[in-house]
Amino acid sequence: MKISDLISRNKHFVSLEFFPPREKSAWPGFFDQVEKLKEINPLFVSVTYGAGGSTQDYTLEIVSKMKNEMDLEPMAHLTCVGASAGKIRSFLKELDAAGVKNVLALRGDPPMGEKNFVPDSEEFQHASDLVSFIGMEFPDLCVGVAAYPEGHVEAESLEQDLVFLKKKLDLGSDFAMTQLFFDNDLYFSFLEKAKAIDIDKPIIPGILPVTSLNIIRKSISLSGATLPDGFMESLEAAENNGGPSEVKRIGTQHAIKQVKGLLQGGAPGVHLYTLNKADTCLEIVKALNS
Ligand SMILES: Cc1cc2nc3c(=O)[nH]c(=O)nc-3n(C[C@H](O)[C@H](O)[C@H](O)COP(=O)(O)OP(=O)(O)OC[C@H]3O[C@@H](n4cnc5c(N)ncnc54)[C@H](O)[C@@H]3O)c2cc1C
Repeated sequence: MKISDLISRNKHFVSLEFFPPREKSAWPGFFDQVEKLKEINPLFVSVTYGAGGSTQDYTLEIVSKMKNEMDLEPMAHLTCVGASAGKIRSFLKELDAAGVKNVLALRGDPPMGEKNFVPDSEEFQHASDLVSFIGMEFPDLCVGVAAYPEGHVEAESLEQDLVFLKKKLDLGSDFAMTQLFFDNDLYFSFLEKAKAIDIDKPIIPGILPVTSLNIIRKSISLSGATLPDGFMESLEAAENNGGPSEVKRIGTQHAIKQVKGLLQGGAPGVHLYTLNKADTCLEIVKALNS
């Protein structure tokens, strides 16, 4: 089923993001975590797309299994990295054949350590090129795109980035999903700015529960996300005084507060970055229902 239809029929949903484990030997453990998370009845699940090699095929294999053997509604991420019309077409044909109706169209990041994104083909330079291609060749697929409440790291300004978001949506994508952020005001002010330029499609907030100092350091360095005053200090103090479990407790409490605030403030639902771990997401959803 298309995510756009699911969103229009469901309020206050939770959806989940996973990444394909690099080694197939890790797949049974991975699918155990996915299975555990079925308990929270996610509206849909998404699977990321790697920078190259076999993990790109793994995305396809995992979403097919989720759809056909696990009774989940999956979405495959897809990027312009290594893209050619032939490769994208065959990926989408297989997706369609597996009954998966949803794709998240992305540009992809520059390789680790490099600052600029150099497209692999003239045809696919920006996510918007993928959106156009999908619209022309696979008009029945539901397409999502990425949005950045603090602006994309390479963007001249948030306003300029929003113009490109509008372009992706006007070209036919159905909804947007945000980069992680730690302060809900950023999301709500982003929604207002989006509304002011006539963006009227759903923008789903993406939330990363912080479960370790490593995770938060890595995620802010990759995404450029800012932290609320005192948040990092409280996590560092927790590490020093209570150890990793205390960091996880504080990070989870922060995520619960964010998710509650987002749903109460009118977000259509929340997309949780699971990092392939069930326990924290289960705790968050339990807290929402209590
Ligand atoms: C929800 C989510 C899921 C993600 N999943 C993955 C994944 O599975 N795999 C992966 O590799 N990466 C993933 N990413 C990361 C993403 O690939 C990067 O953030 C990437 O740097 C930008 O992707 P985009 O689709 O936003 O690109 P674009 O929309 O193409 O934007 C990239 C930059 O170019 C600018 N821009 C856009 N269009 C134009 C134009 N026409 N002319 C000039 N400038 C333009 C934008 O302002 C922005 O600065 C994800 C990001 C998010 C938020």
